Amino acid sequence: MKGITIALSKGRIFEETAPLLAAAGIRAAEDPERSRKLILPTNRSDVRILIVRASDVPTYVQHGAADLGIAGRDVLMEHGGAGLYQPLDLGIARCRMMVAVPEGFDYALAVKQGARLRVATKYLRTASEHFAAKGVHVELIKLYGSMELAPLVGLADAIVDLVSSGNTLRANHLVAVEEIAPVSARLVVNQAALKLRRPLLQPVIEAFATAVRTAAEAA
Ligand code: ADP
Ligand code: MG
Repeated sequence: MKGITIALSKGRIFEETAPLLAAAGIRAAEDPERSRKLILPTNRSDVRILIVRASDVPTYVQHGAADLGIAGRDVLMEHGGAGLYQPLDLGIARCRMMVAVPEGFDYALAVKQGARLRVATKYLRTASEHFAAKGVHVELIKLYGSMELAPLVGLADAIVDLVSSGNTLRANHLVAVEEIAPVSARLVVNQAALKLRRPLLQPVIEAFATAVRTAAEAA
């Protein structure tokens, strides 16, 4: 493939990226929410979009199956970023990675007492680094979704998850007690592709940068 391949996940990332892509002159030929296709052509014959799971975007780009991708910082922290150039914070899909516990659970006290906390999360690596840096003893329990459920049924004392409005936490009687990192989506680029095919990729990266600046100024 001589053209440009962009890896995206559907849902939030695709929806919030579409306007930036449009500003860069790229429009998907089909709506990924309706289409079952995993390779979407675009209005540009030299640009195609791969629809992958959000957490798989860095993998596709790292191995060069896609030249570019858009992934949340949560996913990138978990992946580690090997082989990826991260030139741009797109400022979209903003939220925060937080530690949350059931209302009434004294997290600060548990930490002070050196209690061993059971923490449910899909972010094993990030959570493990966070708690290790704080000297908090944890047993991490890997989940793939609906982390909020775990403390409600005694599977965990705490969760590490993304929080935006806080509505899901509130609905499940949980409270956020600690921020691990602010999260937004980043443009990622295969490092080797950028070196070998810079003339093709650089204009797209710059178009994204301009679109992000324009969106920031309009906000
Ligand atoms: P999945 O459920 O497959 O992880 P999502 O569409 O829920 O896919 O999440 C994709 C990305 O969107 C996440 O990696 C994160 O960066 C971002 N994201 C997830 N939840 C939120 C949220 N509540 N608010 C803003 N961004 C979010
Ligand atoms: Mg989700």
